[in-house]
Amino acid sequence: MDILDKELAAEAKNDRKDGGSPETNDPHKPEYVYRRQIVWFNAIGFLVLHLGALYGLYLFLTSSMVLTMLWTLLVAGLSAFCVTMGAHRLYTHRTFKCKDWVKALMVFGHTVAGQNCLYIWIRDHRLHHKYSDTVADPHNASRGFFFSHIGWLMVRKHPEVIEKGKKIDLTDIEMDPYVMFQKKYYKILFTILAMLMPMVVPFVFWQETLWNGFFVCFLFRLITVLNLTWLVNSAAHLYGNKPFTNDIMPVENVYVSMFGLGEGWHNYHHSFPWDYRASEFGQYFNLTTMLIDFFEEMGWVWDKKYATPAMVRSRVIKRGDGTHWKYSLTQMKDGGESREPGVEDDETYEELFWLEERSAKTAERVVEAQKG
Ligand SMILES: [Zn+2]
Ligand SMILES: [Zn+2]
Repeated sequence: MDILDKELAAEAKNDRKDGGSPETNDPHKPEYVYRRQIVWFNAIGFLVLHLGALYGLYLFLTSSMVLTMLWTLLVAGLSAFCVTMGAHRLYTHRTFKCKDWVKALMVFGHTVAGQNCLYIWIRDHRLHHKYSDTVADPHNASRGFFFSHIGWLMVRKHPEVIEKGKKIDLTDIEMDPYVMFQKKYYKILFTILAMLMPMVVPFVFWQETLWNGFFVCFLFRLITVLNLTWLVNSAAHLYGNKPFTNDIMPVENVYVSMFGLGEGWHNYHHSFPWDYRASEFGQYFNLTTMLIDFFEEMGWVWDKKYATPAMVRSRVIKRGDGTHWKYSLTQMKDGGESREPGVEDDETYEELFWLEERSAKTAERVVEAQKG
């Protein structure tokens, strides 16, 4: 039994034990009651890590060598790209296809970012999309900024998160050798790639101190990238407008997009999760999309999925909040009658919903495998 199985077993044991004040926003199983239980080991652990990271920031600004500063930014940037392009747009949402070495690179970089193993990352993110901002969402933003940002990692999971999490389809992931390798050896890989490699390279190649290596290249860099990632779950579910779908919490947040490599166009992303751009056509501040486009030009990525302007427009008019930069409130009020010539409505986005498509493909592959 490996570490993850142990975690799942422990979760199952604690399942349904909680009692106390009922939580009211659960549309799925009202018989559950839930009381917040703080996991003090995690809470104190995160506090210590953040204090260490602040000290790392101080060292970054005052005593680390210029090469170390550049190296820290490079490791932070590249590992963050592997989270946005790899963990998120490639593995969780399957928005494009790519060469095997690209997958391996993404798993490598995701390990450097130190955001738990991909298997759990993907399960939690698929769960987040399926049950966004309900009790079954691991970082349910209706519980506020702190909970959706980091608090969710400091309390015992809501029973619905565990229950619904077990039902998330991960068969495509279980067939991926890179993700399963990372899952099997996660602790050792984390120690080597997320901690030792970033601190030892500056020590060996330009004689930086290991002290600076640990606090700057490991702790400060890792906690910074983690917080930028968490902002997508917190700020991008709370502060911004909703041009595409008004009745959900995710919003368009330009600051999260700027610092989060293009992941802050979150109302769009939750409206079209299968779109490789995770934002609308022509949207600025989307470095991840630029990188995927570059990979495609080199022939390393293909089959990118995206919504057409007509699909986007149809969605904006039917469900947006009227703040869209192009399609005006007048168009929405008259049901889209005043559309510009040549732009047709397209209803196919409902059929293209990524989960159904992926499940169908997985079922086909399983049948094929059984035949073979
Ligand atoms: Zn979200
Ligand atoms: Zn997503």
